[in-house]
Amino acid sequence: MELFRGVDRIRYMDDNDKLLSTRVVQVHDLTAWVSELTDGQLRDRLRRLAALGRQTTAALVAHLCELDNRRLYAEFGFESLFSYCVRELGFSDAAAYRRISAARLAAALPGVIQLLADGRIHLEALTLVRPHLTAENSARVLASIEHKSRKEVEKIVAELAPKADRPDRVRSLSPERTSFSFTVSAAVAARIEEAMDLIKATRLEEVIEAAVDALLNAKRPKVRTRAMPRGVTRRRRIPRRVRSIVWFRDGGRCTFVGKDGEGCQAARYLEFDHIRPWALGGRSDDPENIRLLCRTHNQLAARKIFGEAAVGPRNAGVGGQTLVDKSSSPDRA
Ligand SMILES: [Zn+2]
Repeated sequence: MELFRGVDRIRYMDDNDKLLSTRVVQVHDLTAWVSELTDGQLRDRLRRLAALGRQTTAALVAHLCELDNRRLYAEFGFESLFSYCVRELGFSDAAAYRRISAARLAAALPGVIQLLADGRIHLEALTLVRPHLTAENSARVLASIEHKSRKEVEKIVAELAPKADRPDRVRSLSPERTSFSFTVSAAVAARIEEAMDLIKATRLEEVIEAAVDALLNAKRPKVRTRAMPRGVTRRRRIPRRVRSIVWFRDGGRCTFVGKDGEGCQAARYLEFDHIRPWALGGRSDDPENIRLLCRTHNQLAARKIFGEAAVGPRNAGVGGQTLVDKSSSPDRA
């Protein structure tokens, strides 16, 4: 509620948004009001709200820094700045930790407040590099983590503070899941990354599974399987041959193109989609009728053809042919 009042007061909304500018908006009013926005307005507002969020975070960090300087949390009755952030400000442990980390860095390097406000560096990146910053390297390191993802920042940290090898470790987590941890050379790490890119894997498990399957298929004695006559019956399952043609043709990415011509290009949660639906007579064995779509765009396509009811509620997930379920294990082909 306060946020919406604040948003109103700082005239975030456009001049023609009469509803917001004339009275304090209640939560249920706001959701109804938002539902009336055009797609363009919604996108524009989300960008501005995200920028507002970054500025709010930066301002909060600056205030925490000052509170810390004055040790006021102790006078307020809290044992630590952390406990103040969690109990009085309502942050989760992780969110409190990142904000305090940024505030303590800001005490030595006030410039980080502006970096946070501009969105050039996110809190997580700052938290990761902070233990490794020195008076000599801070300017260079902070410049190197601008607009970097968590993964990229972790690499920079590993360069700053190399660690010794860890021994191999295999742990059983549950009857179905086992955790492996091992150390590899830079050359092997590079090949694993290349393999992950090649099959668009998002988790190590996918690339290890594919590599182990390939090794076993090559080294294991062959088992003869009876070939099904082709084209006798129309099958819904997309043959492995077609899937691999489609995969390489579409570059392992979602092929959806939006109204404004922007391609989705998502490389995660991909599904093979029948362009002419199987239920309407579309073929599974013709690569021209199959394309790669991410789950979101597969559902959008299904909704457009069959309507909301056929797909089910949003985000409920439809039984598309997900890569993980249907294609990563050659045994099931
Ligand atoms: Zn997509």
